[in-house]
Amino acid sequence: MTTQLSLLTPSGHLTLGNLLGALRPLAARQEAYDTRVGVADLHAMTTAHDPALLRARTRELAVLLLACGLDGSTLFVQSRVPAHRLLTYLLECVATTGELGRMVQFKEKGRAEPSTRASLFTYPVLMAADILLHAPQQVPVGDDQRQHVELTRDLAQRFNRAYGPVLVVPEVVVPAAGARVMDLQRPTTKMSKSVGADGDGGVVRLLDPPAVVRRKVARAVTDSDIGADAVRSDRATKPGVTNLLEVLVACGGSADGVTTYGALKKAVTDAVVAVLDPVQRRYAELLAAPDHVDAVYARGEERCREVTAPVLAAVERALGL
Ligand code: ATP
Ligand code: MG
Repeated sequence: MTTQLSLLTPSGHLTLGNLLGALRPLAARQEAYDTRVGVADLHAMTTAHDPALLRARTRELAVLLLACGLDGSTLFVQSRVPAHRLLTYLLECVATTGELGRMVQFKEKGRAEPSTRASLFTYPVLMAADILLHAPQQVPVGDDQRQHVELTRDLAQRFNRAYGPVLVVPEVVVPAAGARVMDLQRPTTKMSKSVGADGDGGVVRLLDPPAVVRRKVARAVTDSDIGADAVRSDRATKPGVTNLLEVLVACGGSADGVTTYGALKKAVTDAVVAVLDPVQRRYAELLAAPDHVDAVYARGEERCREVTAPVLAAVERALGL
């Protein structure tokens, strides 16, 4: 059976973008694939972090993955599968400082700062280890993660050429619909869970109550082109309206007969609330059943330790350890 893998960083509360771009496509295919979904807690330590907050966000994300219907997948918390850290160092012996320095996220977030954590520089290698350990044939990602998966492919190919054919080189799969949900306040920037509280108005969180969703959608930036209030898609001149239309369709709504921005925002609010409602109900149920959540993750982590051990062992052998 083909393996599909995805990791989500507990850097904030999950967003509608995470649901439409990552979790829903994963859930839709979880029966057809050996699906493994991880909470990437190690990835949330590349900038100054608060241990208590990290623990709380890790738990919230873990519960939300179940609430989003991923109960047919192998769920795990990354730090509880030590092979992720062990393979990272071995791949750091394959990666070069040149290629890591070209990673866009490093260039944007910290290259110039001497106080930047070394882990921000090396974290694409941790991500490569995450992927290569699980040897998925396919990695479904939003296009913001493309460069990192390309690096993973380069490292695997280089390793295999130098030390023997050990690693599976994964394909990148970008989901067709809802691939990139944009921020409602800055519709040329993607919606991100790590956007802070002050910039929060453009980010719809999975646990936002309906009134909050309504307020955020009502305040969404539209466009003031000529013939304003025209409800039509045009990424270049109407990014805000285009994003709302895409969210509407991805959430199962229809723009038929929607002619004004006001009507569009009402339709989007209804569609998003309808998608979030079952997730929020299930989340509340799971909060009341912590032992069930713990058992699901303990089982998933045990399986991950089993399936990744042979990959790590083969890499160590090939490297002369
Ligand atoms: P961060 O701000 O910490 O990078 P994020 O919201 O970008 O948070 P990630 O943990 O980087 O989330 O990615 C988790 C998954 O969600 C990835 O598969 C990513 O491609 C997808 N994803 C993230 N943001 C969006 C978005 N706005 N639209 C669609 N998919 C998204
Ligand atoms: Mg991201």
